[in-house]
Amino acid sequence: MRALVYHGPYEVAVEEVDDPRMEAPTDALVRITTTAICGSDLHMYEGRTDAEPGIVFGHENMGIVEDVGSGVTSVRAGDRVVLPFNVACGFCKNCRAGKTAFCLTVNPGFAGGAYGYVSMGPYRGGQAEYLRVPYADFNCVPLPAGTEHEEDFALLADIFPTGYHATELAGVRPGETVAVYGAGPVGLMAAYSALLKGASRVFVVDRVDNRLQLAEQIGATPINFTAGDPSEQIKDALSEDGVDRGIDAVGYQATAAEGEEQPAIVLNHLISTVRPTGSIGTVGLYLPSDPGAPNEHAAQGLLLLNIGRFFERGLRMGTGQADAKAYAHQLRDLIVAGRAKPSFVVSKQVPLSEAPDAYARFDNREPGYSKVLLQPGK
Ligand code: NAD
Ligand code: ZN
Repeated sequence: MRALVYHGPYEVAVEEVDDPRMEAPTDALVRITTTAICGSDLHMYEGRTDAEPGIVFGHENMGIVEDVGSGVTSVRAGDRVVLPFNVACGFCKNCRAGKTAFCLTVNPGFAGGAYGYVSMGPYRGGQAEYLRVPYADFNCVPLPAGTEHEEDFALLADIFPTGYHATELAGVRPGETVAVYGAGPVGLMAAYSALLKGASRVFVVDRVDNRLQLAEQIGATPINFTAGDPSEQIKDALSEDGVDRGIDAVGYQATAAEGEEQPAIVLNHLISTVRPTGSIGTVGLYLPSDPGAPNEHAAQGLLLLNIGRFFERGLRMGTGQADAKAYAHQLRDLIVAGRAKPSFVVSKQVPLSEAPDAYARFDNREPGYSKVLLQPGK
């Protein structure tokens, strides 16, 4: 089959690879109809996270079940499904508690599994024609048959539940004020989820105009951090010492604002942006690294968090990969009911063959490439 293969930083190509095959009676094979490029793929694409040449990316997948093992009972060939990016067993302590990003079975020695992601287990990605899905009864989320809402449903694999999870980690409640750092697809989904939950005011911080415009379009207030300290801009607009809840949807690849010698990690901005005793949800990625590691981004995440100021303001924070599977069913039902339309963030659909070009453009944050869906069947 054809798949997008990683060769090294900024180098990906569409090539023939071995077809996946079922390895356990609990597996399914899915023919991918839509798979998305994610900001998380850029950590490997840009070489911030080491990835082995030859791996196939892709953790935002949906498609049609092609075949199931003898132990699979809830889906069958022909069913349309979305595959939230957590590869999880469904029966360990964390899965039972809904912490599906931290499955204790699939990736021993590391919390949680994902398709096509280094460090998150041996699972090949779905930027390909076919994908093997382990524990298919748990990992396939059934969708209505047909092709309706394809763009909305594709976002259930990651960024919609991840944005929603950010609001859960931050504890957003109706009527509250929220600041989201990052207007990438994840930040926009966090802002959208906060508005769905009834937040009274949502600020979205970035410096990329077309992304800030999308934030404004859904009813959030855009804050361009090149125009001055984003925290001060938000406090001026509110006339208060900060928002109730803050969300980090940037992570350790933050770029520097005007006047900053090096990019202050977004978490330190959030510590000032959130009112004393408020709370923060961090879904932007910080990967562990030794302090001496040759990766300045990771070392920053490790060393520069202003814990003194965090303590002084009495804040709370939740972090981690999102338990995408824990929310996917409810968010699917909101889409079906016409109450949510996350696809406002989707700007492009291209055949898999154009994926290398789409990666380069998404990485450059080009207008029209805020969220790219790949269609392996076309
Ligand atoms: P993205 O790279 O498209 O978006 C990041 C945005 O942050 C960009 O628009 C960029 O301009 C902006 N930015 C950079 N520096 C900034 C700063 N100092 N202040 C404010 N904004 C700044 O990526 P994305 O797809 O939206 O993903 C965002 C982050 O979420 C990534 O780190 C990704 O790995 C992570 N992620 C986490 C999970 C999870 O489960 N926790 C899931 C998906 C993605
Ligand atoms: Zn993703």
